Amino acid sequence: MTTDAAPLGRCPECGRSVPSGWALIEYERANGEQGVFAECPSCESVIRPE
Ligand SMILES: [Zn+2]
Repeated sequence: MTTDAAPLGRCPECGRSVPSGWALIEYERANGEQGVFAECPSCESVIRPE
């Protein structure tokens, strides 16, 4: 399934939806899930989308 157009999640700082194109780094969490760091287009912070 392709989720290219789906947003990464919400910014924990300002609550804005973060588009997939703003992802910076993907990593693997301790529990094996894929995590991602992204730059928030609204507050310009590096955040982990929720
Ligand atoms: Zn934000």
